[in-house]
Amino acid sequence: MRKFSLFFVAIVATSLTSANTLDYALIKKGEPSENTMLLLGGIQGDEPGGFLAASIVATDYNITKGSLWVVPNLNFPSIIERSRGTKGDMNRKFAHVEKNDPDYNSVMRIKDVITDKNVTLILNLHDGSGYYRDKFINKDENPDKWGNTCIIDQSTLPGSKYPELEEIATSVKDVLNKHLLEQKHQYHVKNTHTALGDQEMLKSLTYYAITQNKSAFANEASKNLNAEQRTYYHLIAIEEYMKKAGISFTRPFSLDVKSVKKAIEKEIRLELFDTYVLSLKNLRPVINFVPFKKGEISYSSPNPLIAVIKENDSFKVHYGNRFVTRLKPQYFEFAKPLDKISLISDGKELTLKSGDKFGVKNSFKIKSLKNVRVNVIGYGTKSVDESEQEVTKKSINKSYSIDKDGKIYRVEFYTNESSKEKFAGMILAEFK
Ligand SMILES: [Zn+2]
Repeated sequence: MRKFSLFFVAIVATSLTSANTLDYALIKKGEPSENTMLLLGGIQGDEPGGFLAASIVATDYNITKGSLWVVPNLNFPSIIERSRGTKGDMNRKFAHVEKNDPDYNSVMRIKDVITDKNVTLILNLHDGSGYYRDKFINKDENPDKWGNTCIIDQSTLPGSKYPELEEIATSVKDVLNKHLLEQKHQYHVKNTHTALGDQEMLKSLTYYAITQNKSAFANEASKNLNAEQRTYYHLIAIEEYMKKAGISFTRPFSLDVKSVKKAIEKEIRLELFDTYVLSLKNLRPVINFVPFKKGEISYSSPNPLIAVIKENDSFKVHYGNRFVTRLKPQYFEFAKPLDKISLISDGKELTLKSGDKFGVKNSFKIKSLKNVRVNVIGYGTKSVDESEQEVTKKSINKSYSIDKDGKIYRVEFYTNESSKEKFAGMILAEFK
């Protein structure tokens, strides 16, 4: 798949290599252009609608015309912690940030992205409380609420690429209102008139962008909605702003809540130590004896919301603010991962490399390799090397699967050329 590998390369360059550096990812899509839209999610970690929507655009959308930059996880530590901000609210640090503030580097770096000469339209995604209304209706629907609004700091920004902020936000609002799941979700334009003295908003990211003569908008989905509903509304808004910025795109799903939920919950690859892959979907809460290298963990994923974080003696895997699983490591020296693993699955011959996954209906058999010991995790046998054995689903202890349904099993390889065994890779067998 050409598209996937291109994208994978692009993100690895900006991705995480260590659990201690939860830096945000900057993903550049489309063709380089001096008319680039910057999409931001996750400035506050307890707003999953925004960072899930930005992440889906980063991973699933194909930009066919124009230029889009996506930062889906601006405040990544706060996303992992499910907090508005682990070190205070990052969205109040754009007028001034202390040098010793833990967010200092992120704020300064994203300011450089915002002021990049190619960036012309900025959209910052939030999940806000309740539903904004111009008049007080009840405690959930009133002028103090932020949910389901298209936010601008002022009506116009003369001299910027898209000066008619209010006109643009209003047309996005009108499109959102044509796709409401319920009448109660009705969107409104909220003008914070920041320059007139809104002390809080003066410190925000969008207002900083305005002072740099960049056309900036925020979109808010209501915290009263579930994650996929919020993401659904954000995606509608993002698409409208992309059209304003001359960006064309395709996406591999139709824009409805059910498909958005599927896109959020799709299987995600997590590659560990450049050697093997765990597919993240429906995993058990704990996976034991996972081969690890001593020293710092290294991992990568095409999904920018994946993080692996050391906690005591184990490593927790996160997808945004969702806990995925906990890996209990077993430490090995690593050999070069095997790139030619022959096996027979349901009578069909396959050649795989470490990190691959294969499907099987009835049984599989790994062909013997010189100086390599094969270990099918959970396969009940007395032999040390489990190559050349017909492995059926029945012959594996179900509690060793990596997934909750007892379908996906690890097949691990160890070289024993020297006296000390070295881990040489893993493939996954998925029973249908
Ligand atoms: Zn927010």
